Amino acid sequence: MYNCAKCPGYCCSYPLIQLTKRDVERLARHFDLSFEEARKKFTKVETGAKYAMRRKADEHFGRICRFFDTEKRCCTIYTARPTICREYPGGRCGYYDFLSGERSSQNDKTHIASTWNK
Ligand code: SF4
Ligand code: SF4
Repeated sequence: MYNCAKCPGYCCSYPLIQLTKRDVERLARHFDLSFEEARKKFTKVETGAKYAMRRKADEHFGRICRFFDTEKRCCTIYTARPTICREYPGGRCGYYDFLSGERSSQNDKTHIASTWNK
């Protein structure tokens, strides 16, 4: 079973992290900002997404969510995180399944250990 606490935050590096209007409102409340301030500061318009999370540089994945702590490898706004982050990944994590499969097929429990803690 996957364990997000041991993961370097692969899903937080997805190119598009889409927010709803309510998500932006929640962020605005969390940071004591107006809706417009939060929208401009935390989101941008992407193809097909009115509110896409802004991202920043990350040494492991290239780019990652602006709210991700790249040292501790965790979310810095857990209680105010967007709906999509609350719902993801549902029952299974594809990233964990991929790494588990690779480790099993290569008979190496430490395969890609630099990105997934043992
Ligand atoms: S859902 Fe999967 S990829 Fe995302 S943090 Fe958890 S284990 Fe990592
Ligand atoms: S808000 Fe938190 S959980 Fe969601 S993508 Fe950003 S860092 Fe990850």
